[in-house]
Amino acid sequence: MGIQAAEISAILKDQIKNFGQEAEVAEIGRVLSVGDGIARVYGLDNVQAGEMVEFPGGIMGMALNLESDNVGVVIFGSDRDIKEGDIVKRTDSIVDVPIGNGLLGRVVDGLGNPLDGKGPIESTERGVADVKAPGIIPRKSVHEPMATGLKSVDAMIPIGRGQRELIIGDRQTGKTAVALDAILNQKTVNEAAGDDESKKLYCVYVAIGQKRSTVAQLVKKLEESGAIDYSIVVAATASDPAPMQFLAPYAATAMAEFFRDNGRHALIIYDDLSKQAVSYRQMSLLLRRPPGREAYPGDVFYLHSRLLERSAKLNEDFGGGSLTALPVIETQGGDVSAFIPTNVISITDGQIFLETELFYQGIRPAVNTGLSVSRVGSSAQTNSMKSVAGPVKLELAQYREMAAFAQFGSDLDAATQQLLNRGARLTELMKQPQYSPLTNAEIVCVIFAGTNGYLDKIDVTDIGRYEAGLLAHLRGKHADLLGWITNEDPKIKGDAADKIKAALDEYAATFA
Ligand code: ATP
Ligand code: MG
Repeated sequence: MGIQAAEISAILKDQIKNFGQEAEVAEIGRVLSVGDGIARVYGLDNVQAGEMVEFPGGIMGMALNLESDNVGVVIFGSDRDIKEGDIVKRTDSIVDVPIGNGLLGRVVDGLGNPLDGKGPIESTERGVADVKAPGIIPRKSVHEPMATGLKSVDAMIPIGRGQRELIIGDRQTGKTAVALDAILNQKTVNEAAGDDESKKLYCVYVAIGQKRSTVAQLVKKLEESGAIDYSIVVAATASDPAPMQFLAPYAATAMAEFFRDNGRHALIIYDDLSKQAVSYRQMSLLLRRPPGREAYPGDVFYLHSRLLERSAKLNEDFGGGSLTALPVIETQGGDVSAFIPTNVISITDGQIFLETELFYQGIRPAVNTGLSVSRVGSSAQTNSMKSVAGPVKLELAQYREMAAFAQFGSDLDAATQQLLNRGARLTELMKQPQYSPLTNAEIVCVIFAGTNGYLDKIDVTDIGRYEAGLLAHLRGKHADLLGWITNEDPKIKGDAADKIKAALDEYAATFA
């Protein structure tokens, strides 16, 4: 029996159609339903968890929930133009963002798209947003200082390069101010480093769920001070969809890791992670994942731990770079025992605790020195700072204890009176206005004056004036002394202490 040509072509056509359909079913899917930034997609049989998918019009999404009959996709953008039945394409790539030097000085969104109108990002490299943190072998213990330029932080809660130090406090307590001053302080550090890349520090600031106007003000400040040249700002503001707020910290960390992995140093500020947790809760609930404590999904701890573990000090075999993290957490009514604050406290290497009460008493930065700790401790301080900072912590701790008792009785012995006097003056000395970070040497001299009795005869209300005058005096007449402390980094005792004392005595004679 002969086979008709028409029959063959019909069979072939049928097979090609089937083959085509199979390929189609594997690589594209169709939207079943869409709403609240979440799309349910049918098809996409081989999609990986965390893979990017593309909707019509170039809108990107990420496959998160892989279920037997559909895939839950979060949409990075507006879901308005996505309709039921739309085609969704696999991209075969996990979410990645541009990385490299080309991002310095730029403001980008969570996918690395420019927001500052300065043209396209000049970078050829890309980095995966959510990668595994370095293990134990490539790491080294933290030992270099990451100076913030704030007296209370650098002296009492020192932060080292590679450390993770939480900034925690209620709303409007100066959390962002501490982080911003840390960025501004790197200007002098980077200028002093010159071309030495092993000393410079690059900064990445991630704004999550903040008002656009707040972020714009911060960017303006960075631009005015020139700090933008060594910084990257990643913004996912309150008006951006939850998936963008969730993604931005991971994307920004990929940008910061570029420096860490090339033997350089970077600082990343997550402002703030409570809002990231809220956006993750929103996504998870819409994806119908079961709610746990405070309605957060069960893996919200993993959300923050896998992010913060990427900050590290690498050893010499891995280039010796570092990534320091300053995550910010907002508490409600000073409650640090809520779910998200306790999680992040346990992940980080210490916390700077800012208090509303201190803030309104005018003690700014409003650092609660009793509850703030740095678990890296003085190994991240310079020799000079280590030798002057020890007594401050002790005297302030004793002062806090005594001040509570002193409220009850008036007849105090001379020693207690002396302790209270000293404590009040040191507390006053720790105040610092915004945008005026001090160098390591300046902080050393100022604190030396405080712990060596130079302030004891001065009225508490005059301390600010004394300090401002002292700084001007040191910068004008003793620049060589400041330079010597910076370069030689001596222990402040014997000869070095005498040199500072001579400068302080000289100033005391002129201060009235
Ligand atoms: P939010 O919860 O809104 O993010 P926040 O905790 O980040 O607030 P900031 O925005 O940093 O707080 O600061 C709140 C206000 O306090 C700002 O107006 C800021 O200028 C002021 N402020 C912060 N630190 C100081 C300081 N050291 N001296 C004087 N004013 C300060
Ligand atoms: Mg803030």
